[in-house]
Amino acid sequence: MIELHCHTTFSDGTLSPKRLVESSLMADVQALAITDHDTMSGWDEAEQAAIEFVNVYDRYLEIVPGLELSTVYNDKSLHILGFYPDKNKLAAPLQERLEGRKRRAQAMVDKLDELGYPIELPEMGEGMAPGRPHIARTLTDAGHVRDMREAFDRLLGEGKPACVEYEKFSSIDGIELLLNCDAIPVWAHPFLFRGGELEIVLPKLLGAGLKGIEVYHPSHTDYQMEKLKGLCDRHGLLMTGGSDYHGPGAGHHAGLNSQNVPMELLDALKLAKV
Ligand code: AMP
Ligand code: ZN
Ligand code: FE
Ligand code: FE
Repeated sequence: MIELHCHTTFSDGTLSPKRLVESSLMADVQALAITDHDTMSGWDEAEQAAIEFVNVYDRYLEIVPGLELSTVYNDKSLHILGFYPDKNKLAAPLQERLEGRKRRAQAMVDKLDELGYPIELPEMGEGMAPGRPHIARTLTDAGHVRDMREAFDRLLGEGKPACVEYEKFSSIDGIELLLNCDAIPVWAHPFLFRGGELEIVLPKLLGAGLKGIEVYHPSHTDYQMEKLKGLCDRHGLLMTGGSDYHGPGAGHHAGLNSQNVPMELLDALKLAKV
């Protein structure tokens, strides 16, 4: 089985690309997409690790280059996965999104300060994408909240007092950017979107050139997955899926290889790329 949605320490995951590759090998994952938020920085280390680990695990773990683009639709966060982008084309526009994430992280720290929860913005290296989970972890370490969950429930969840939305970047523009960079745009976890009905939003995204839907995701119920499969059939869309794994201690509970995503979905994705 395969994983088409995973995060590393280059965004809000807790495992480095190398450790994620090793965990995936141990979990018998056959292909692994690195889909960090707004950055492609984890690909090289993952590919290097996959080659190194051939000696240890006696098999090669296929690495699928990807990312999870943060966009806004109806003033709510909407995530779009992009698979196989042309790195050279996407690097410069993505750098802008990354800078925006850094400004947004600082804006959230400023709001927390006003609310009486002073923290230091966590140190972030070049090419690393800060997000709300980093701030939630820092709040926990500082003793302002008990855990990540409380941080999101009280302060950082959408609509909560310290949450700052991504700098304006519409989902339509995001899909267009991915297409211009030869990537396959896929709507990530549609049932986590809070800005409108699926039936109303999907046609707009299709109009912009959306090519697929993430069907398998730990937040989706069986009923929701069946519904998404039906929409994919009806509109001739690609299906993807993954556990959205963020590593141990990241506040997510689905393990690697928990979604039973079949290899055929990756085959179809590659055909669409050609
Ligand atoms: P950001 O892109 O900075 O807005 O952060 C979004 C990420 O925060 C998601 O990908 C999840 O990893 C995490 N997240 C969102 N909501 C919650 C929550 N209620 N509890 C824990 N993590 C969350
Ligand atoms: Zn995340
Ligand atoms: Fe997401
Ligand atoms: Fe994700």
